[in-house]
This record gives sequence, C-alpha cells and structure tokens, in this order.
Amino acid sequence: MEHVQVLIAGGGIGGLSAAIWCHRLGLSCLLVEKADQLGGQLLQIGNEIVDLPPRVYPHGSELLEELKRHPALQTLDPRLEEAVISIDPLSHIVTTTTNRYHADFVILATGVSPNLIPALAGCSRVLTTAFSTTANAASVAGQDIAVIGGGDRALESAANLSKYANHVDILVRRDHLRARSQWSEKLEKLSNLRILWETEIASYEPREERVLLTLHTKRAGQPSEITVDWILPRIGVHGNSDSFPALRTFGDGYLHTDEYQRTSPSWIYALGDVSNGASYASLSLAVGQAMKAVKHISQQIHQP
Ligand SMILES: Cc1cc2nc3c(=O)[nH]c(=O)nc-3n(C[C@H](O)[C@H](O)[C@H](O)COP(=O)(O)OP(=O)(O)OC[C@H]3O[C@@H](n4cnc5c(N)ncnc54)[C@H](O)[C@@H]3O)c2cc1C
Repeated sequence: MEHVQVLIAGGGIGGLSAAIWCHRLGLSCLLVEKADQLGGQLLQIGNEIVDLPPRVYPHGSELLEELKRHPALQTLDPRLEEAVISIDPLSHIVTTTTNRYHADFVILATGVSPNLIPALAGCSRVLTTAFSTTANAASVAGQDIAVIGGGDRALESAANLSKYANHVDILVRRDHLRARSQWSEKLEKLSNLRILWETEIASYEPREERVLLTLHTKRAGQPSEITVDWILPRIGVHGNSDSFPALRTFGDGYLHTDEYQRTSPSWIYALGDVSNGASYASLSLAVGQAMKAVKHISQQIHQP
C-alpha cells in the first residue's frame, strides 16, 4: 500500500491551492481527481471573474490555464479519473476507485454537485448544469425555455436567456423567491418571461424536438402543462460528502470543520465549497482555506 503524507481529494481551485501550499511548505502530496481533467467548477464559469484579486479573468478556463502553469504544480502529477470512495477514520486508510493509500493527512476539496430533479431522469431536453447562460444564451435563440428554481442563479439565468429566447417560464416551488429583490425587480420588466408559482414538474413526454411538461401547481389559473424546447434546472447544489459518512455535516451535505479546516477525526481536513455551504462558495475563500489547512498540517508535522 502506498504511503502518502498529504492526500488531496479534488482538483478544483481548492485542491490545487492546497497542492501549491504543500509544495511551498515542503510537504509531499498526492492529488486524486474524480474527473478526467483538473479544474472542477472553474470549467463551468462562463462569466467574467471580478472577485479574485488582483486580476479580472474573462472566464474560468483562463484562470485554470494560468493556475496550471504555476511552478509548484509542474511536478504535481495528479491522478485523474480516481475518486476517493471511503476513508477509515481509525486506520488512516483511504480507498479510491483504483487504489488504497495510507495517508498521514487527508484534505477533502471535493466541491459540490448540482441537485437533480427525479421527474426529469432520462429527459434529453435538459440543459446540463455546466450550461453557461452568460456565454451560450444565443444558442437557444427563438426557443421556449423552462428554468427551474427561485434562487439568484435561476433568476440570473432566466434574465440572460430572455435576451435571446422566445419565451422563458420560471417554475418556482414556493410562493416566494429566495433570490435577492434586485432580481425580481429586473425580471418584472421582461415581457417574454413569466413566473409559475408553487409549481413542480410531475412528468415529461418527448414531443419531437420539444418536451411536454406536466405540472403540479397549487395556484389557480396557472397552466397544468407547458411545452418547451429546453429545461434548465437551477435548484441548488449539495456538498460532495456522500463517501464520508463518518464525518459531521450541516445543511445539504457540507462538511463541518473547525477554524483550521479540521473535521473530526482531526487528520482529515475539508476546504472549499464542500465545507462552506452555498452562501459562501467562492474562489477566494477556497484559496484562503487551502493555505490555512496546509499550514496547520505543516505545524502538526514539524511540532508534533
Ligand atoms: C457558473 C459558476 C460561476 C461562478 N462564478 C464565481 C465567481 O465569479 N467568483 C467566485 O468567487 N466564485 C464563483 N463560482 C464558485 C466557484 O467556482 C467555487 O466556489 C469554487 O470553484 C469551488 O472550488 P472547490 O475546489 O472547492 O470545488 P470544485 O471546483 O467543485 O472542485 C471539486 C473537485 O473535486 C472533484 N471530486 C468530487 N468528488 C471527488 C472524490 N470523491 N474524489 C476525488 N475528487 C472528487 C470534482 O470532480 C471536482 O473537480 C462560480 C461557480 C459556478 C458554477
């Protein structure tokens, strides 16, 4: 079994920043990434990134390319298409889809995954969560879209799509929006957009290149069916923590940590989105937490 000083799970900005700090503090690390490429959510960011000082990046891919050129990552040799599937809290044994390791420390930077709508399983007219309405809205020009969700991301997506789409329906499960009021004010001015309140998708039926959605709605006067070209679910995310049932969570699968990013047991750290919850998900926080976690690990090693 391979011995690893610091095993990092996840090759998004959090995991990569942790690897940079391991290099800087003289710790040896191994990074395993479930996907076939590094980057995590950076690969999905089509908007301009204005809040990771000091640079403004036109989109996530440019930030990722710059990050991958960092000198400390040139010797990293990440293991792609390898996911951590369990950690034994007592023996320090980490099992991945292809290997078993004995790790002195583990850093979980496994990020988040989008929540799915069971009623839409197998539907080919669902846009993936990676669909960027900033970069790709023009690709649905003249078409009818159903956006699902009532948060900031759903409303921002609907507003972006309405610039090109024929019509946008926003399906909201509750009787109010979770999004900031600035969004509802903006949407009220858009004539090709309608909100269907207290509405959920019950089932779907393919209709040539379109899809018929049967709706459950509590509101009188609202349609019980709509036909659209595309559906864009924006119903939030959950922390990628399913493989670590022994660790304490809060909210939708987010890993609980102390001020040094330690979970319990204290040799397992968590950082980035998997530990932050949706409200605080950000690039800058993931980068900062990586520094704190690795510095703390280095102190454990050098002053046991
Ligand atoms: C469209 C969009 C726009 C955004 N815009 C901004 C913005 O402008 N500014 C900002 O600050 N933030 C923005 N964010 C949020 C930001 O991208 C995230 O906060 C940040 O990327 C989180 O990084 P992370 O490393 O924690 O997780 P992720 O980037 O999610 O990376 C986690 C990685 O772990 C891997 N993984 C999962 N499970 C396992 C496992 N068991 N074993 C091994 N690997 C695993 C995943 O494949 C993934 O590569 C945006 C997000 C999106 C989706």
